[in-house]
Amino acid sequence: MVDLPTKKPHMTFLFSDTGGGHRAASEAIIEAIHCLYGDAVITQMVDFLKDYAPPPFNHLPEVYPDLVRVPELWGAMFDISDGRPQARIVTSTFWPYVRRAARRLVRDHHSEMLVSVHPLANSFFLKALGKVRPPFVTVVTDMVSTHALWFDRRADLILVPTEMARQNAIHYTISPDKVRVVGQPVSQSCSAPVGDKFMTRQQLGWPQDKKIILLVGGGEGMGPLAEMARAIDESGLDVCLVIVTGRNSKLEAELKEKTWENTAFIYGFTRKMSDFMRASDVIVTKAGPGTIAEALNAELPIILYDKLPGQEDGNVDFVLSEKVGVWAPEPLAVVRTLTRWICRPDEREKVVKNCQRTARPEASRAIALILGNQVGLITDYSPNSV
Ligand code: UDP
Repeated sequence: MVDLPTKKPHMTFLFSDTGGGHRAASEAIIEAIHCLYGDAVITQMVDFLKDYAPPPFNHLPEVYPDLVRVPELWGAMFDISDGRPQARIVTSTFWPYVRRAARRLVRDHHSEMLVSVHPLANSFFLKALGKVRPPFVTVVTDMVSTHALWFDRRADLILVPTEMARQNAIHYTISPDKVRVVGQPVSQSCSAPVGDKFMTRQQLGWPQDKKIILLVGGGEGMGPLAEMARAIDESGLDVCLVIVTGRNSKLEAELKEKTWENTAFIYGFTRKMSDFMRASDVIVTKAGPGTIAEALNAELPIILYDKLPGQEDGNVDFVLSEKVGVWAPEPLAVVRTLTRWICRPDEREKVVKNCQRTARPEASRAIALILGNQVGLITDYSPNSV
């Protein structure tokens, strides 16, 4: 812990439950903040869409899973709105509708610092805050394909997960001295050393004598998760399936009804993702940035079966270029990769090594240090100062 000033600064985190990644990133940073500064700082998360935006925008978190179920539409919306001029048009078009709500949020949450972990929170709240305002920091939670709405030149600092995202920020005319590469924030339990797989499996009640294949579709259980699970189950591979459907309760019910060839555990939304990853041998997932970062920390080879066009395209490139997994959008390709990694443990082991090299377990702590520095909790910040 560090020596702290007496007045408690108040930090407000602007997030929304469009997917599970923005909440997970916020929680991970807040956890690291309290680990470093104890209760000398007050933190609060605000779902700015659900709790403040006027209708119909306040329904975005609810309808998001339906919107992204039409990937072509989502990809087209991403592409059309991406770019500096387009981002400016989006902001000025919607500003008259959201202005009052944005100003109300700012008044309700008097803060010494605002932290945005959502692309839609930047320009609107910077506009609402006006010229005399507390520091505003953006933490970009997309790995590579970072939409222009992430980058507003008025932000004091923009923290990004990868060098590719830094290049994008500069491309969108952000001054290089405002951008820092910190990695993707993950919770302490996800960044802790991998530990004893045997014990974790025992605690979860999972078998010790089978390869465990973890299937996840982000916080909302998206993409052809059921199709992939069925293909693995019917492939003849002797494995244990762990399928996490997140908030997709319809899919959870459907999968629980099914009779499986192999041992299969079906879960809805779980708070034990770090244990699940540490107890597994391979993850089959959509290309969500949070899940990818957590899998890297868990040294878990990744099979990507789906992606959101636009915002998750770059995540696939990242996984391939770091050699931490494969892109396998067809069930047959998933089964082939699993077969290869199971029959050739040395091949899986190479991927595990690449995961170890690519993981950034210090990301949340680095962000907490930078934010603490912004509000005067520490003055001599350097990554090794505490
Ligand atoms: N997650 C979770 N429990 C679940 C399903 C997902 O905690 O049952 C978390 C997962 O560990 C990750 C986040 O939700 O931190 C999903 O984020 P990601 O960026 O991968 O995808 P998104 O849901 O935002 O599309």
